Amino acid sequence: MRLPATPLLSVVIPSYCEGSGVIETLDVVAGVLRKAAIPHELIVIDDGSTDDTWSFLENACATYPRLRAVRFSRNFGKEASIWAGLRHASGDAVLVMDADLQHPPGLIPEMYRIWREARVDVVEAVKTHRSREPLLNRLGARLFYTLMNRLSGFDLDRATDFKLLDRRAVDLLLHLEERNLFFRGIVAWMGFERAQVSFEVPERAHGRSKWTLVKLAGLFTRSITAFSTLPLQLITLAGVLFLLFSLILGTKVFAQWWMGEAVEGFTTVILLLEIIGSLLMLSLGILGTYLARIYEEVKRRPLYVEAAVLASEPSDRPPMVDPDEAPAGSRPPETRA
Ligand code: UDP
Ligand code: MG
Repeated sequence: MRLPATPLLSVVIPSYCEGSGVIETLDVVAGVLRKAAIPHELIVIDDGSTDDTWSFLENACATYPRLRAVRFSRNFGKEASIWAGLRHASGDAVLVMDADLQHPPGLIPEMYRIWREARVDVVEAVKTHRSREPLLNRLGARLFYTLMNRLSGFDLDRATDFKLLDRRAVDLLLHLEERNLFFRGIVAWMGFERAQVSFEVPERAHGRSKWTLVKLAGLFTRSITAFSTLPLQLITLAGVLFLLFSLILGTKVFAQWWMGEAVEGFTTVILLLEIIGSLLMLSLGILGTYLARIYEEVKRRPLYVEAAVLASEPSDRPPMVDPDEAPAGSRPPETRA
């Protein structure tokens, strides 16, 4: 596909309770893009923030050209925000980045340049290391990425959501019918040619991380189940092992009975009951997790609900909003899959 002389870059910024920090980020990003003379549009998704993020965004629409702000009706999570951003983006390439300046905007011109020159579909920024994070987070992340790698075959250890995607990749993602998507995983799954730039993750510029243990655990099971069915096969494997074990033990018990020896081993019975009981529960849990995913998929509910969309006037390029679209901010709530 031939690119226009100055391809448009859409920058998608999911933000949840970032307050005035979102403006700080917009300032830095817009400044970098202007300096590098990259034609761009900015898309900020307010993921149902409970603070004043949205009022900051409303004001920003008056000052920033080509800014689109989308407000979710409630908190749908970062993955849904990324998806909404991809859907709203009209650029030849779409860049996704965090709102807390932990994804250095200074890297954007470099990523844009690599995309144009190397003609790759994905330019991803990977972190050099994760040493600044608390020990527990690092251990959790290690467990997750090792499991993910073993189960799905994708090495996501240093991957981040800071990625630039070519329009081809964005369109492919938007055509996927799945609900349970894990952005980092699905980008690797597409298998397109990827270029990498590395960066050191700076401290959060403002506010605190929005991840709670519950949210992380949710992401953990969601991503594993979305990319692998191996846990299901493990149940069968455990079943086979126990069957073999029970055959051996059964023969022994029967032989002892045959020879008239009293069957002893009350402790063994208790232990076996406990082991088998927990194994069964665990297996049911795994089955249930997959069942829940199937249930979510067949319901076909939208990934998020938009409560409002605001778009500022473009200054340098043709209008981004359809002329026959209702005036900014007055659109009725809409749902997008
Ligand atoms: N975020 C979001 N919805 C959420 C949680 C987070 O859109 O439910 C956004 C958040 O505003 C930020 C990005 O996702 O722009 C990364 O979040 P955070 O910095 O809290 O995560 P961390 O950097 O600790 O992984
Ligand atoms: Mg962060």
